Amino acid sequence: MVGIEALSYYFPLYSIKAEEYFGTWGYFGGRGIREKTVAGYDEDGVTMALAAASGVSRDGELGYLATATFAGPRLSTTLATTMALKSSRKADFTGSTNASGEALLSCLDYVGATGKKALLVTSDLPRASPEEPLEHRLGAAATALLVSPNGGLQVRKTATSTQEEMGELFLDSEGGRRSLEVVDTAPDVVRESVGEVLGRSKKKLQVACFEPDGRFARRALGKLVETAQIGGNVVELSGDTGTSSAILALTEVLADRKEGEEVLLITYGGGSSVALSLRLDSPLGAPERPRSALSSSRKYLSYLRYAQFRRFLSRREPPSEISMGAYTSLPSYLEFIGERYRLIASRCEECDHLHFPPRYACLKCGGRTFRGEPLSGLGEVYAYTIIARGSSPTEFKEQQDLVGEYGVCLVQLEEGPRIVAQLTDCDPSEAGIGTPVESVLRRIYRQEGVVRYGYKFRPRPSA
Ligand code: ZN
Repeated sequence: MVGIEALSYYFPLYSIKAEEYFGTWGYFGGRGIREKTVAGYDEDGVTMALAAASGVSRDGELGYLATATFAGPRLSTTLATTMALKSSRKADFTGSTNASGEALLSCLDYVGATGKKALLVTSDLPRASPEEPLEHRLGAAATALLVSPNGGLQVRKTATSTQEEMGELFLDSEGGRRSLEVVDTAPDVVRESVGEVLGRSKKKLQVACFEPDGRFARRALGKLVETAQIGGNVVELSGDTGTSSAILALTEVLADRKEGEEVLLITYGGGSSVALSLRLDSPLGAPERPRSALSSSRKYLSYLRYAQFRRFLSRREPPSEISMGAYTSLPSYLEFIGERYRLIASRCEECDHLHFPPRYACLKCGGRTFRGEPLSGLGEVYAYTIIARGSSPTEFKEQQDLVGEYGVCLVQLEEGPRIVAQLTDCDPSEAGIGTPVESVLRRIYRQEGVVRYGYKFRPRPSA
């Protein structure tokens, strides 16, 4: 029977506490939320989605990639390039937080019909204008879910329901206006889909529900299940994570389940709801509890820093159209894009020398035949420098306006090559020669209307 084989999630390293809002706004509009996760200035829906997807191991053929995001950019193209899924079917679900449920249903259909595996990735860092109280509760997270013909978390029954609904104005991640669902009429819709899945059964199953504010699930499900059955939401520590919240709750709830137990997964958004009853038939390779991940090693931001990371203070268009030093034409950016995103080095067939980035001719022997070899992305800082204010190429001016000085390092990779890249997720002063680092894919800058992604390195805990 079709089921979920593995799940994974990603929280950015940064958080902001509710108290920080009081100093700036005099109040905090996110009742029930103590702190929330914040994406780094160089993260977006794509990079978070990739980070979550990398936590799910993919043995065997993956035939379908479905992504879900409330208002982020279209995710599947960059994801497919980075994960070498060129020939897989792809679909992007967006426009409502129920996109995660709709995308999951499409994965179940695909796997049921083909017998191949499907990957669902949700990623959201919803954005609103800083003056709106709604903004206060918005967090950031991504999740990944692998669906396979014999997944250990078997899908027993699914249901959907829809009802016309009003919206309110909202900003998407690029600053364009969109609407966000008003959750007030939601309970009826959720009750309908849940009622259909539960039927007349009075089973004491645990419920993992979409949760934007810490009150939604109880309001929607109050008459159907007991409060104690509603579990797993981490909204008080993550904030509203849009399409990711239901799957985060599922991950948390599963940590306490035994074989044979059932869980109800509920998504909601834009007047529609999806409900699925799931049974744990064999244990999943479950990740750390989301709650534990959110309770350890966070970096807390001041409100000012937060506003910078969220680009509340900067001009919309970065001044990178006139290039001073870091210009890469779109054709040459695209040429080795897959190799660069996936850190695929090329080994010379003649003399075995390993090159990264790939080259047309071997630096050592001039040979022209290579075989691809994936790099681990692990290494240590061999040399580094701090780019002070005013000394960056214009491509990085926006970044420097946002975060000030930044670190650039020469990384000695474990496999041999040395590569130059920016440091991220740390103050430049936190790294030095010998610091163990790992690669992450991040936004580099926007040029000619295209967001350029590339690898950066962040410190990793030494073994
Ligand atoms: Zn060679």
